[in-house]
Amino acid sequence: MTTAYIALGSNLGDARGQVLAAFDALDRLPHTRLTGRSPLYLTPPWGVLEQPSFINAVACLDTTLAPHALLDALLATERAAGRVRDGERWGPRTLDLDILHMDGTTVSDERLALPHPRIHERAFVLLPLNDLAPDLLLPDQGRVSDLLASLDVTGLERLP
Ligand code: ATP
Ligand code: CA
Ligand code: CA
Repeated sequence: MTTAYIALGSNLGDARGQVLAAFDALDRLPHTRLTGRSPLYLTPPWGVLEQPSFINAVACLDTTLAPHALLDALLATERAAGRVRDGERWGPRTLDLDILHMDGTTVSDERLALPHPRIHERAFVLLPLNDLAPDLLLPDQGRVSDLLASLDVTGLERLP
């Protein structure tokens, strides 16, 4: 059994509803159980700035899926939520599900990088991850609470 942290994001349509539905979809994945859900955050767009704000959150899973099998399940869940990949990187999407970390596993191939290499520069990931796992140590990046402390979180709003 592996503990996996998943980043959830949406900024098209009913973004809050998409993220809440995604928590339930994660709990229904084969060989997988949802064990934690962070609060939701309203966050300014990152990378491509001319797009709507995002709803972001992090989920914690127990799973016996291997990393690439979990990735395939997440990509299928995105498609089921109406995600269309039009080629624009970091553009608007109904649902984005990224694997952040799976216990101590490191992977680096053309389909999957673990831990996710851009966690340390993203307050919209670190804020909800810190709610679930402040002491989590990300290989090559550092401790979640330390990484968050080095970032500017102005403009990010925790939703009730
Ligand atoms: P970013 O990875 O910077 O957050 P993104 O989420 O917008 O960007 P996508 O277009 O959703 O990128 O995904 C592109 C590809 O990234 C996926 O098809 C997948 O193969 C690959 N990928 C690599 N590492 C991961 C990971 N840890 N979690 C999810 N996808 C990953
Ligand atoms: Ca992403
Ligand atoms: Ca993604």
